[in-house]
Amino acid sequence: EDSAPQLVDSAKPSSSSELPRVSTGTNMTENGGGLKEKRKRSQTPLEKYFLKYLCVTDISTQSWCEQQMVYGRERPELQPPERVSLLDAGKSIHLARELEVHNLVSVRTTSKEDSWAIKLLNLLSMIPVLQTGHRVREFPVFGEIGGVFLVGIIDELHYTAKGELELNELKTRRRLLMPSKAQIKKDSFQVCLYKYIFDSMVQGQLKPENFTSHIGLRPEQPLGLHIKAHAQKAGFTVASLKELLDLAFLNLTLSDIPNIDRLKIEYIHQESNALLGTEEVPYERDQVSQEVQYYLAYWKGQRDVRGVDIEEAWKCNMCAYSSICEWRQDQVAEGPFQRSGSKKSK
Ligand code: SF4
Repeated sequence: EDSAPQLVDSAKPSSSSELPRVSTGTNMTENGGGLKEKRKRSQTPLEKYFLKYLCVTDISTQSWCEQQMVYGRERPELQPPERVSLLDAGKSIHLARELEVHNLVSVRTTSKEDSWAIKLLNLLSMIPVLQTGHRVREFPVFGEIGGVFLVGIIDELHYTAKGELELNELKTRRRLLMPSKAQIKKDSFQVCLYKYIFDSMVQGQLKPENFTSHIGLRPEQPLGLHIKAHAQKAGFTVASLKELLDLAFLNLTLSDIPNIDRLKIEYIHQESNALLGTEEVPYERDQVSQEVQYYLAYWKGQRDVRGVDIEEAWKCNMCAYSSICEWRQDQVAEGPFQRSGSKKSK
């Protein structure tokens, strides 16, 4: 099942974790999404954080608690160290799995167009692998929903014995236990969003010009020598980002790759690598669409940040930001959290 090597940007620590964040700086304040933000109504959160796009993982984190996601962005130093070590261990397990299907080749990039070209070359090299019924790992997806550009990386796509295209998401766990229903709900939303974006891509709904305009890329920018050499080796003659984009989107839409038929999440114990269990995730397109629109409304400045509702006040008990959380303080002051809630367990 070996496929073409996966290219990684030599300027980035790893290709398999995150796509490049195109940002002109951080300029993050410690306003905690509170009063200062309310005063600055003209600036949307996307503008405030200088974000040209969002990652699917940003939205699934937001679905756990939007306020927590905002604090995670503004106060990363308050994140518990075990969370960081879990993420690192998760990355190693992902990498080991990725190396089972292809080698990683480091490529020198000279512009942000080159960095995105790497993702497109990887996408291009995986299309024939999928077409011939084989497994791919770390498949990049791009999409536009409600005017916001979204990017993600699907852990694995393969065909089942029945010929259905199945997405497999790998989640690592520190404890030797399956996660709570709430955690599974968050992970399920993430894989549903991958399917939503993937299906739109193979149906040709995303256009190359959406890609460059959202991210602020120069379509006519000549690709760096190293990128061109790797493209050539893979059988593609491309001189600019636009040519590569056109080729990638044309190949994708003419490929006959179907929509994803099944969604599965695999939970693995971090230390022992033991399989803790799998979840089959049902998919309701309209529901996914509504939910993502609701989350994007925050990013577009159409509503204020929200914390958890009373039914989920138990999440505050395990939250690194509970002592500084304005949402929680407001809820406690207004009554509901105080009466029932933060002691309520899952
Ligand atoms: Fe969300 Fe509760 Fe944490 Fe505030 S304390 S960020 S409402 S989980």
